[in-house]
Amino acid sequence: MNIHEFQGKSLLKAYNVDIQEGFVAETADQAVMIARQMQEKFGTGYFVVKAQIHAGGRGKGGGVKLAKSVDEAGIIAGRMLGMNLVTPQTGPAGRKVNKVLIAQDVYYPGDAKHEEFYVSLLLNRKSGRYVLMYSSEGGMDIEQVAEKTPGLIFTEEISPLTGLQPFQARKIAFKLGLSGTAFKNMLKFLEGIYETFISCDAQLLEINPVLKTSDDRVLAVDCKLILDDNALYRHQELAQMRDINEEDPVEVEAGKYSLNYVRLDGNVGCMVNGAGLAMATMDIIKLSGGSPANFLDVGGGANKDTVEAGFRIILKDPAVKAILINIFGGIVRCDRVANGVVEAYKSIGEIKVPVIVRLQGTNATEAKEIIDKSGLSVISATSFREAAEKVGAALSSK
Ligand code: GDP
Ligand code: MN
Repeated sequence: MNIHEFQGKSLLKAYNVDIQEGFVAETADQAVMIARQMQEKFGTGYFVVKAQIHAGGRGKGGGVKLAKSVDEAGIIAGRMLGMNLVTPQTGPAGRKVNKVLIAQDVYYPGDAKHEEFYVSLLLNRKSGRYVLMYSSEGGMDIEQVAEKTPGLIFTEEISPLTGLQPFQARKIAFKLGLSGTAFKNMLKFLEGIYETFISCDAQLLEINPVLKTSDDRVLAVDCKLILDDNALYRHQELAQMRDINEEDPVEVEAGKYSLNYVRLDGNVGCMVNGAGLAMATMDIIKLSGGSPANFLDVGGGANKDTVEAGFRIILKDPAVKAILINIFGGIVRCDRVANGVVEAYKSIGEIKVPVIVRLQGTNATEAKEIIDKSGLSVISATSFREAAEKVGAALSSK
């Protein structure tokens, strides 16, 4: 699960990480009020207005703007709220901005002596350890650094048993070229982000830029935090940070039925039980000349309700030109699934695209009979190849 920058920063702050302070606004008036309060509290003269969307690259797309007064913060926020923000990470469709963060300007005007670093924490699945990635070349062009000068990005592996060791933090701070107070502040910063990452069961924590000011403070200016969905059950307060406005509505719907659905950009909807079979099905769709419109794993208990929910979800995608149901009946008997398909089909009414059903396993013969005798325009198939060929034929007859 992805969360917003302002939420990530609030977690960082709870673990003693210094951050660029700010508050969230949903209207221009709120933005003005926040800016005024921050001026009183922090003596801030300048502000940055930052679009809160679940995508990075905002700086490049006009989603991070400097305001030189309280009133200007309101004007910029008013313009940004409701706009469709397109960044290198949103795709051409962009994202609607519903919230903006009014943050203090931490780049002191006229001060060229600040430095921007890149720091992230993630899991290295191969070694079973965490990795802290860092670079002295942080800021908006980190992707270019990775491409053109990968030697400037360093990694430090951390054992989950011992955690981030003081000698490792010192090595990182040293490699970033720090000394004195900034060095000490960096140690505290690294310790804090590691705590945050572990305590929240995060999958990724990325801070770009980490700012070193000319007076040696070390601050998180940005924060991207992805939480592990499988661990959310033990973090009620984090689960509440979910913003479904930022998620694909069809995926949200699928989640309600505990269906594992991922939208893709092809033309063949697929409904499969088991992730491995789903992957193989996507391959065979490709070989038959189509391309998968989605990944959908209906899980072990394929029945009328899950099949119906699956149909409805797949049919929400206008790009779908054919549907392939590929179910292996091991524990769940094929004849039961076949009845489920027939009932689901009837309860939806007319399905305008061809549906190809392949049921294999226990009672497969009975299942094929049920499909064939149903009188519905459902095409049955026995082998994997036959199913693929029928999908191919259905697509080319369109
Ligand atoms: P991203 O583009 O989505 O990664 O958003 P960031 O939060 O990283 O902001 C983009 C850029 O805006 C940063 O790399 C900074 O250069 C700049 N920026 C962020 N905060 C401030 C600020 O307080 N003052 C100034 N002058 N620039 C800022
Ligand atoms: Mn950033």
